[in-house]
Amino acid sequence: MLKRVLHTRPTAAAPIAPPAEAAVAIGPEAVLRLLLEQLRPLRGEMSVFAPRLGRALDQSDWALASRTLLDLVEMAAELTGRAPVRRETIEFEPPAGTDEWQAAAAMLLDRGMPALLAAGDALATRARSAAERVRSVSGPRQTEGALQEMACLVDDCAGHGELSLQRQGLLLDLLRHLSANMAGLAEQQSWAHGQAATVQALLDGPLSVDMLQAALANLQDVAARQSRIKESRDQARDSVERMLQTFIASLDTMAASTGQYHARISAYSSELADVRGAEQLRPILAAVQRETATLENHARTVSAQAGAARSELLDAQKRIQALEAKLEEMSELAREDALTQSLNRRGMMEALGREMHRARRYHTPLCVALLDIDNFKQLNDRLGHQAGDNALVHLVRVIRATLRQMDVIARFGGEEFMLLLPGTTLPDAMQAVTRIQRELTRSIFMYEHQKVLVTFSAGAALVGIDEGQDQLIQRVDAALYQAKREGKNRVAAAA
Ligand code: GH3
Ligand code: MG
Ligand code: MG
Repeated sequence: MLKRVLHTRPTAAAPIAPPAEAAVAIGPEAVLRLLLEQLRPLRGEMSVFAPRLGRALDQSDWALASRTLLDLVEMAAELTGRAPVRRETIEFEPPAGTDEWQAAAAMLLDRGMPALLAAGDALATRARSAAERVRSVSGPRQTEGALQEMACLVDDCAGHGELSLQRQGLLLDLLRHLSANMAGLAEQQSWAHGQAATVQALLDGPLSVDMLQAALANLQDVAARQSRIKESRDQARDSVERMLQTFIASLDTMAASTGQYHARISAYSSELADVRGAEQLRPILAAVQRETATLENHARTVSAQAGAARSELLDAQKRIQALEAKLEEMSELAREDALTQSLNRRGMMEALGREMHRARRYHTPLCVALLDIDNFKQLNDRLGHQAGDNALVHLVRVIRATLRQMDVIARFGGEEFMLLLPGTTLPDAMQAVTRIQRELTRSIFMYEHQKVLVTFSAGAALVGIDEGQDQLIQRVDAALYQAKREGKNRVAAAA
C-alpha cells in the first residue's frame, strides 16, 4: 500500500511544484505548511523535521523541502522497525536481520550442540548438518526444511538415553527455542536483530552447560520483551504510515491539479486577450471561477484528511507511551530494587519458583542464603542514612563480583538480601557466602574518606525436593538468627 503511494509521489527529477502565483489561494506550499503544523508537536527524533521544513518553506527551497520529506519517510520507517528506505527508489526493502539470526542459530547448533554432546556422537554430526541447513535458508520452503530437521534433532535428543537428564533437557529447550524463532522469521525479520546480537555475544566465549543455560535464559527474556515492544511499534508504524500515505497522496494530487489549473487558466487568459465584449467575457469568468472552486474544495478535503491523520498519530503515540511505561513498570520496576538494582522480593520469589522447578526437573541441587547486615542501625545512626544506602549498594557490588553470573541476588527487605545458588550443594553454598564475607573485608567500604567495616550474618539452606517456598524461607531465616546469636559475621546451615 505504502509502496504504491510512494511510487506515485513526485520524484527527484520532477520536484514538488513551486507554489502557484497569487491567483491560487491554496497550493502545494499551503499543504506543506499544513504538514509543518502537524509536525511541530512531534517530540524526540521526529522533532527535527518541523524546523527543517519551516526553513525550506520560508526560503522557498523546494529541494530542501523534498529532501526533508524523504528523510521524514526514512525516519518514520526506522522508528517503526522497518528497514530504511533506499533514497533513490523510495521503496521499502525486505527487512534485514535474517542473515544475522540465521548465522547465530547456525553457530549455536554448530558449536553449542557438539559441546553438549560426547565427542564423535552421531547427534553432534547431525547438529552440524542442521547448522549447514539453517545457514543456507533463503526462503519459506527452505525454512520449513530446516525446521523439520531441527524437529528431528529434538526427537532424537529426547530419545537419547545416554545423555544426562540435564543435558538432554537443555538441548531440547535450546532446539525448541531455535525452531520457534526460525518459524517466526517469515514475518518478524527485524525483530530477530536483537536476539541474534544476544546469542552472538553469548557465543563469543568458550561454551559450557552454564553458558548455554545463560544463553537460553537470555533468549527467552529478550524474546518476551521484544515481542511486547514490537506490538507497540507495530501500532506506531500503522499510524505513521497512514499519515504519510495521506500527505504524499494529497501532495501528489494537489501538484497535479495545480498544474492542470495553471494550464487551463493560461488557456483562459489567452482567450481573454481575444475578448471583444461582455457576453464573451462572462462564460470565461464563470469557467475560471469553477476551476478555482474545485481546487479550493480539493484543498479543504486534503486539510481535513491531514488533520485526521495527525490526531491519529498523536493518539497512537500517547497509547504507545502509556504502553511502554506500563511495560517498564511491570517488567523492570516491579521486579527490581531501585537502590541496589538487584531483584526485589517479588522478583526473587519468581526466580525462586523458576529455579526450584529447574532443580526438580534436572535433579540438581539448589541452595539459598539469607544475609542480614550486622549492626546496620548503628551505622545509620553514626554516619547517616546516605551512608547506610551506599553501604547497601557496596554490598551488592561485592556479592555480584564474587558470585557466578547465573546466581541470583535480591534485596529481600531493608538490609536483608537473598541469594539463589543453582547447581550448588550446601557445603559449597556455605563456602560461597564465606567468600563474600572475606571479600567484604578486603574491598572495604569508604564513606566520606572514612573506612567503614561492613559485615553480615547469613543462613544457608539446601532446597528440599518437595519443599514449599514459605517453609524454605522459615528454615533459612532460623539459620540466619542462629548466626546472629552465635556472634554475627558468620554463616549457619539450616536444619
Ligand atoms: P543486627 O546486627 O541484629 O541485624 O542489627 P541491625 O541494627 O542491623 O538490625 P535492626 O533490625 O535493628 O536495624 C536495621 C536497620 O536498617 C533499621 C533501618 O533503619 C535500617 N534500614 C532498613 N532499610 C534501610 C535503607 O534502605 N537504607 C538505610 N540507610 N537504612 C535502612
Ligand atoms: Mg534486619
Ligand atoms: Mg541487620
